[in-house]
Amino acid sequence: MWSAGRLGFRERPSPNQDERPAGEPIDTLVLHYTGMPTAGAALERLCDPAPPAPLPRVSCHYLVEEDGHVWRLVPESRRAWHAGVSFWRGHTALNGRSIGIEVVNPGHEWGYRPFPALQMAAVAELCLEILGRHPIPARNVVAHSDVAPDRKQDPGELFDWEGLAANGVGLWPAGVPGGDAALPPGGPERATALLARIGYSVDPARPAPALTAFQRHWRQERVDGQADAGTLARLEAVADLAESICD
Ligand SMILES: [Zn+2]
Repeated sequence: MWSAGRLGFRERPSPNQDERPAGEPIDTLVLHYTGMPTAGAALERLCDPAPPAPLPRVSCHYLVEEDGHVWRLVPESRRAWHAGVSFWRGHTALNGRSIGIEVVNPGHEWGYRPFPALQMAAVAELCLEILGRHPIPARNVVAHSDVAPDRKQDPGELFDWEGLAANGVGLWPAGVPGGDAALPPGGPERATALLARIGYSVDPARPAPALTAFQRHWRQERVDGQADAGTLARLEAVADLAESICD
């Protein structure tokens, strides 16, 4: 288990936010990496009311630095603009019903690197506080790449989802065998059905983006978009675990 002190927030209010839609619960938690060279650059970007075209205005509720410091940018009662075009479990436009956390990391574009333990401890503590305030089921703790697999890779295959789950945040099936044997007949169809059951938007004719997103989250040792036997075993385990827990 990680250990962290009580979280103290630094305030950096972002103007990039608006009212949440009426009548929608806050039932989803979306984890991101910043994907910028420095934390300072990310904070600037997330608070920029007029970024140069064609960049959109973006924000998040919280940003967690590599040393564990947490910035609060948007109140949870307001809609932050972090997920963009998105889908999970039948819902679209997830900004309206989610909390968004940006975890500082240069990302695949600028030098992807491991997330330090201090940072992950702060992420876990922040998530637990959020889960205590909102009805967010474990299966709705997701990566940006889970809800936008065609566009996004974050927070990526170095993010410690297993450790988060050990701290009570999100889903992680225990004891699932790996293995990269080829799929048995009917495997691709089975994989597509499981992806949809878990919550992904998946095109049966082109399942690789959703498979890749699944692997970044739940099968990090091999991220290639291929539905091998090991990936199928994880898919089965995540789907069963998700459905065994009440929303
Ligand atoms: Zn993101």
